[in-house]
Amino acid sequence: MPISVSGNIPGGRIEVVDCSDPADIRLRLIPDRGAEFRGHYHFRLSGGRGVDCVFRILNAGDTLATRLPGREAVENAWTNTGPVASYDRARWFRLPASFDGQVFSFSHRPDYDLCHYARWAPYGFDRLLDLLARAQLSSLVRITTIGRSIEGVEIDMLTLGTEAPGKLKLWVLAGQHSSETQSGFFLEGLLDRMLDPHDPVAQNILERAVMYVIPNMNPDGTIHGWARLNAVGTNLNREWVAPSTERSPEVKCVRDLMEAVGVDFCVDCHADAELRCNFLGGPLEIPSRSARLNDLFCRFENLWAAASPEYELGHPYPGGAPEHADLTMAWNWIAERFDCLSVLLEQPFKDTSWWQDREHGWSPQRATRFGSSLPVAILGIIPQLREGHSK
Ligand SMILES: [Zn+2]
Repeated sequence: MPISVSGNIPGGRIEVVDCSDPADIRLRLIPDRGAEFRGHYHFRLSGGRGVDCVFRILNAGDTLATRLPGREAVENAWTNTGPVASYDRARWFRLPASFDGQVFSFSHRPDYDLCHYARWAPYGFDRLLDLLARAQLSSLVRITTIGRSIEGVEIDMLTLGTEAPGKLKLWVLAGQHSSETQSGFFLEGLLDRMLDPHDPVAQNILERAVMYVIPNMNPDGTIHGWARLNAVGTNLNREWVAPSTERSPEVKCVRDLMEAVGVDFCVDCHADAELRCNFLGGPLEIPSRSARLNDLFCRFENLWAAASPEYELGHPYPGGAPEHADLTMAWNWIAERFDCLSVLLEQPFKDTSWWQDREHGWSPQRATRFGSSLPVAILGIIPQLREGHSK
């Protein structure tokens, strides 16, 4: 029987140029609508059991033209990494790969008939629905539908804890860029801990604060397998100054709610395909930058590093600080509008450099445990969040 390769699966994404010869499976990446071009892929191989297969992604090098500015000194997204593969879609293991500047290649002889391949472990929309269904069984949670995507998919928010005057408002955003699926696993770790009635850290936070979690801001992207954009080709993380119903209803509903509720802390969860570490971006160059915000950011970084070695100090956002922050990005706009600690979290696609797991690389399991470490850092920073607060 011949092999078959297909991206026509939920959240799948690949163009099959030719798979008639298992030793020369030729593939191409597909840009998002709006033509933003990133290295996202997710596909299935059928009939590969015991067959030596060689996969070549022919246009991988074309994505280098869309690298973020200031990254010249950083290794590119195709170096020092390989795809993840899975037989059961639960455990994902790494394969070695090579990149010649244009073509990304890897080989594999599957042990089973079906094998899935992806840039990083997928986090499908069904899994998000499972997470919401599980979370709502806790008496600590309310779930609210706050808006709809361009294609009409509901955008949900979890409210953890009981709202009361004087309580801090903590926000966690995820999924603006739908291929950065690390966020889903990170949120599982965060929510499992925050909803544990026997966890003193979580209970202490919820006595003093309410946590608002938006688990997926771009459900259309998740469902279709897009890398970063929404259904009309908008990069949601460039919409925060003036979101609109036509271009970015996903941002507008969250922003409107923030205006109504207030924000004392926010973390916006993303992933970075180039760096081999978890790192934070702080809104240090916003117009209302202050010693207070600088100090909060440094304290928070140190608290998280103490809570988990997966957060390493000394990895500032690459390329140096811009002269002026881009307020169209969520974390910058939120910090400027609410004079609060608001950070960008980037998890790796590769492995971390401090602790290397050659079998898995940075994995869903590690992302989940990393998420469970966030409450310790939040608990530590709570006493300072409103000190000298101006808005
Ligand atoms: Zn992102």
